[in-house]
Amino acid sequence: MSTTERAYLDWNATAPLRPQARAAMVEALDAVGNPSSVHAEGREARGIVEAARERVAALVGAEPRHVVFTASGTEANMLALSPQTGGRWQRLLVSAIEHPSVRSGGRFPTVEEVAVTAAGVIDLDDLAKRLAAGPQALVSIMLANNETGVLQPIKEAARLVHEAGGLLHVDAVQAAGRIPCDINALEADLLTLSGHKVGGPKGAGALVKRAPLDLHPLVTGGGQERGQRAGTENVAAIAGFGAAAGAAKANLAAESAHMQGLRDRLEAGLRAATPGLIMFGADAVRLPNTTLFALDGLKAETAIIRFDLEEVAVSSGAACSSGKVQPSHVLKAMGVSPALARSAVRVSLGPTSTEGDIERFRTAWITVSGTLLEKSRGMAA
Ligand code: PLP
Repeated sequence: MSTTERAYLDWNATAPLRPQARAAMVEALDAVGNPSSVHAEGREARGIVEAARERVAALVGAEPRHVVFTASGTEANMLALSPQTGGRWQRLLVSAIEHPSVRSGGRFPTVEEVAVTAAGVIDLDDLAKRLAAGPQALVSIMLANNETGVLQPIKEAARLVHEAGGLLHVDAVQAAGRIPCDINALEADLLTLSGHKVGGPKGAGALVKRAPLDLHPLVTGGGQERGQRAGTENVAAIAGFGAAAGAAKANLAAESAHMQGLRDRLEAGLRAATPGLIMFGADAVRLPNTTLFALDGLKAETAIIRFDLEEVAVSSGAACSSGKVQPSHVLKAMGVSPALARSAVRVSLGPTSTEGDIERFRTAWITVSGTLLEKSRGMAA
C-alpha cells in the first residue's frame, strides 16, 4: 500500500523502507555465497556484510568490529542483558519506561526498576540510591522513549553507573537516525539498534560495543559474528540495514529539522483545536518526530480505528497483551491515571512525512474527537 494515499504517522512502530535499502537488498539477494565460505562467492557475500557493518558502526561512531548483527532490536537487548556478559555484573537495573524487551530482564532472574519523573525522565537520584544499595549492576536505560519521545540523560547516568563499577546498556532503537547518537559521546558500554526504525528491513538489529567486551551468546553454534551470535548471516537484511544507516547518517540534520518543523505545526494545530488537550513529555527534551497526547473522555482504541477509517495511521499509548488493552506502563510510571492513559494517542513522523499528512491528520482529528467525545458524553448523560 502506498503511503501517499494515506497519512502514515506511526514511524515509531516501523519506518517505510528507504529506497537505498531496497536497492541494496535486491542486489544482495543475488549474492550466492555463504559469508563464511572462502571461495569468491563467499567472499562477495562477506564483503556485503562487512560494508554494512561499517555503515551501522558509523551511524553511532563505533568500530565496525564492535557491531554484532542480530535478527532484531529485541534480540540485541536480550543479548546484552545477561549476568554472564562481561562476567562482573550480577544484578539488573532498568528504567521503568523501557521497551518490554528490556523490562522482561533478558536472562537475569529478576529486574529492579528505576523511577522516572512526571515528565518521563529517569530519576537520577533514585538510580544513584539503587546503585549504592547493592553489588555492581548492569543498567539499561533507553536514549529515547518509544511512546513519549522523551530523551534520557544518558551521559549523567553513565557517570553514576561507572562510578559504581557498573555497565551501561542503552537501547537507542528510537533515537538512532533521528538525533545524533554517538556511543563514545554517550559513554554507553553497549547500544542496541533496530534496522526497521531507520528505514531498513524488519528483522535486522545490532548490539554495538564501545570497547571489547565478551557477550554471553544467546544463539550458539557456528562462530559467526566473532562467536557472539551464531547462524548464517541474513545477508540481504544486513545489506538493507547498512544502506539505511548510511542514508540516515548522511541526512540526519536535514531530516531531523524537517520532522521537527512538521511535528511542531501538528502540535500547535492540535492545541488550538482542542481545549483540555494533554501532551505528555512536552516539558522535556524530546525526539523531533513524536507526539503523545490525551483527552479526557476519549478512548484511544476506538480513536485509532476511527483515524484508520479517515486514512490516517496512528497508534495508542496502550499495549495490547493477551487481547486485553492495558494502560501504558510508561504513562503509569509518569504518574498518569489509568483512565487518562487509556485515551493516549501517539503520532510519530518520519523523513518523508509531508504538510499534506499533517493536514489530513488535523482534519481527521476534528472528526474523530468530535464524534467520539459526543458519544462518550451522551453515554455519561
Ligand atoms: N526498543 C525500543 C525502544 C523499541 O521501540 C523497539 C520496537 O518497537 C524495540 C526495542 C524492538 O525492536 P525490534 O522491533 O527490532 O525487535
